[in-house]
Amino acid sequence: MTWSFSLGRLLGSELRVHITFFLLLAWIGFAAYGTSGWAGAMVNIAFVLALFACVVAHEFGHALMARRYGIRTPDITLLPIGGLARLERMPEKPGEEIAVALAGPAVNVVIWAVLTAFGAKTSLALTDLDQTSAGFLQRLAVVNLFLALFNMIPAFPMDGGRVLRALLCLRMDRVAATRAAATAGQIVAFFLGFMGLSSGNPVLVLIAVFVFVAANAESQDVAMRSVARRLMARDAMITRYESLAPQDTVATAATTLIRTTQHEFPVLGSDGALLGFVTRAALFEALAHDAPRTRPVTEIMTADIPRVALATGLETVLATLHDGAPAIAVCTETGQMLGYITRENVGELMVVQGR
Ligand SMILES: [Zn+2]
Repeated sequence: MTWSFSLGRLLGSELRVHITFFLLLAWIGFAAYGTSGWAGAMVNIAFVLALFACVVAHEFGHALMARRYGIRTPDITLLPIGGLARLERMPEKPGEEIAVALAGPAVNVVIWAVLTAFGAKTSLALTDLDQTSAGFLQRLAVVNLFLALFNMIPAFPMDGGRVLRALLCLRMDRVAATRAAATAGQIVAFFLGFMGLSSGNPVLVLIAVFVFVAANAESQDVAMRSVARRLMARDAMITRYESLAPQDTVATAATTLIRTTQHEFPVLGSDGALLGFVTRAALFEALAHDAPRTRPVTEIMTADIPRVALATGLETVLATLHDGAPAIAVCTETGQMLGYITRENVGELMVVQGR
């Protein structure tokens, strides 16, 4: 569950919007309608579109800087606090990571400077953002300054956290540095949550919750990657499992599901070659309908299962699992399956190998 959906592609990246971004928009629009009616709400819709454009510009700041170092950005997700550009990989050199992190807030500073040159004054408190009485450009200037400053807080998941991590990496290993920046993020989250609760600002509380969760996720992700870097597909694969034959029926698959603890079953030819996987979800789907249970399992299996070799790095396996495959098959060069890997058993491996 990602809580975001796609808007299309721009400059080589898929643009996604997180649902909480709309909560922020709804709050601003609703507040304007309450104080100044439809006219105010319309002005705020225009404002929200301008804000949206600034957040997109911020993310493309990261993406275009990353491209200078030969790193692609598959997708960009917009969030209330600025958004996340998901880079294909992080730059190895701390200097490059800092440049990529700073490029986002720098775009907002540039926008703020341009708006100020056009006469927008930055004398407004952030709490006045939902007031339509303030000038349009003035509010936009304030929002850009806010985006730049907020993202420079030296804590994950803000851009400043990335700068902090890169600096800490000069003195400690990456996992420890990430943990420190993530802990800073959780302290900031508590502080924001306290401010939000004591001032009765629900958006601030929402941002606090998001910062807390994202800081934690970043820390776990880096720890997982560092374990994955040391291991190969052979270390993670399930080697004791029950398989189905192509002529087996849906009814046979159903009894196998009950008999075992497996959630997915490889369908193997007589020579051991992998034909596909039957998932528990596909099986339930097949059983829920009135179609005969004498159908062969080949009719309900997923055929395009990603295949890796025994010596494939676990990092590659993880990236492939992220793309949504039910399982990854570990096969010989001639296509015989040796074992398979699921999200659950990688999770178990991380607990065993972790820390
Ligand atoms: Zn950013």
